[in-house]
Amino acid sequence: MTIQPLGTLARTHTCGALTAAATGKDVVLLGWVHRVRDLGGVMFFDIRDRYGLTQVVVREEALADTAKRLRPEFVVAVLGRVDGRARDAVNPKIKTGEIEVAAHEIRLLNDAKTPPFPINEDAPVSEEMRLRYRYLDLRRQRLQQNMILRHKTTFEVRRYFDEQNFLEIETPILTKSTPEGARDYLVPSRVHPGEFFALPQSPQIFKQILMIAGMDRYFQIAKCFRDEDLRADRQPEFTQVDLEISFATENLVFATLEPLMGRLMALVGREAPATFPRMPYAAAIARYGSDKPDLRPGMELTSLSEPFASSSFSVFRDAIESGGEVRGFVVPSGARYSRKDLDNLIEEAKQLGAAGLVWARHAEGGVQSPALKAAGEAAIRRALELAGAGPSDLLLLAAGAHGPTARMLGQLRLNIAKRENRLDPNRFEFLWVVDFPMFDWLEDEKRWEFMHHPFTAPLESDADRLESDPGGVRARAYDLVLNGSEIGGGSIRIHDQRLQRLIFTLLGMSAEEAKARFGFFVDALDYGTPPHGGIALGLARIVAILAGEQSIREVIAFPKTAQAVDLMSGAPSMVDPKQLKELHIRTE
Ligand code: ASP
Repeated sequence: MTIQPLGTLARTHTCGALTAAATGKDVVLLGWVHRVRDLGGVMFFDIRDRYGLTQVVVREEALADTAKRLRPEFVVAVLGRVDGRARDAVNPKIKTGEIEVAAHEIRLLNDAKTPPFPINEDAPVSEEMRLRYRYLDLRRQRLQQNMILRHKTTFEVRRYFDEQNFLEIETPILTKSTPEGARDYLVPSRVHPGEFFALPQSPQIFKQILMIAGMDRYFQIAKCFRDEDLRADRQPEFTQVDLEISFATENLVFATLEPLMGRLMALVGREAPATFPRMPYAAAIARYGSDKPDLRPGMELTSLSEPFASSSFSVFRDAIESGGEVRGFVVPSGARYSRKDLDNLIEEAKQLGAAGLVWARHAEGGVQSPALKAAGEAAIRRALELAGAGPSDLLLLAAGAHGPTARMLGQLRLNIAKRENRLDPNRFEFLWVVDFPMFDWLEDEKRWEFMHHPFTAPLESDADRLESDPGGVRARAYDLVLNGSEIGGGSIRIHDQRLQRLIFTLLGMSAEEAKARFGFFVDALDYGTPPHGGIALGLARIVAILAGEQSIREVIAFPKTAQAVDLMSGAPSMVDPKQLKELHIRTE
């Protein structure tokens, strides 16, 4: 089949533009053949581009041969006249649904192999196929919409920060290791044998240096690289909306972010509240068993130790006596669960690491619980009352040390909430989680590790306990949580060089080590560092939530698999031995 040149032909309209108002006009459309319908005497096909679909009708005898050869994904130019469609042929679902274009010339600009999956259907296709042929997947409507939404999101971010006097400043990609707790991607230096650049895990140090440099307000749509053991929905390279503000307080950072979230929600016709609630980390763990609680399902965890402290139920009493507690939560309408459902719940809790799970509910003339005999009716009644369990509800209880018990129950709560359809996709619950612990204890290495990063300031009221009780010190760190996803995190930073040195020491870094890793930064701190703070938002996660997608891969044009492989380009791959030699690298 002969391919014809585009020549000087220019499109007059996109495939999503024509309406009844254009009836009678001569037009030129350029795009892909989406779907062909041959009705014998007449042929119809849809022509598609990013903007939409237009129906083309081929009535002219002279065009029949060309039209018959058209296949999906061929690239064509259609010259024709806009006709109104017969009333019963109108498609109210698309903007161009009232018209069709009667072709008087069709130019075949290119042919196409049969695609490995249909572009013109929403049929399920394996993700491997989709990633291998990403250019075809990206032609499909869902990803086209997601890319458009992602563009609108970044554009709105830029517009907003510009209005707020922020400067967009690029920071280096070839740099020194930055600390976000992951492994670095390293790039060998050819001109300095044996030396390496690290790709930034975030622009953290540079943005703080920009504050020292007097830039006052910085933002960047920044690429970050972390060589982590990949968890389900992580990417080795990802984009952050990164910002830093001089003379910042938590209130200033939050008041900067909240209206931005409102603007982004408006892109999909949603609203966000003017301000978001704040919850200390300790309360988030106690009430939801998570540092990123999903507030939608309710079902808060409560302490239920009181009824069991002196009861005869030794499992619960022992847990309390050894410094633990009894915690539980109510499953609304859970009283209907069958014995089998309840056994499954106990099994599920065990899978989540619980030693056991006890249920309780009201029943005709009394209460029911496997612990009824051991604990006594009064204790079970009191627990149901304390938890606020009504006649149709189910109470679930577990005992043990506070943290692990709350986390296990928190996970169980989420699993049940999902099954019970209590995670309403049309509700958006924002939350600031604040006052994170400053440090985590690494049992294997017998040392403290930073929880956010080593530049995070301690709460002023806790700072004097840094050396005596590091585990009890809270940080001026905060996360922005939306429907149980952490969409951003940041902190007020240390601007006092003395305190920064102390923190490095507490983290077990010798003066030499700190100097080797962060010397340039510590030097800079000595030259008049303003108080400052900031945050970084996960762009893909936000776009995914706005788009109603579960996975961030759906809003990334060229994502990697969970094994950190780009199936389309085949990266990572072997390289030419000559390249390795130039880089002074030997592989075994
Ligand atoms: N650099 C931090 C991160 O990537 C964010 C911040 O503290 O601003 O998580």
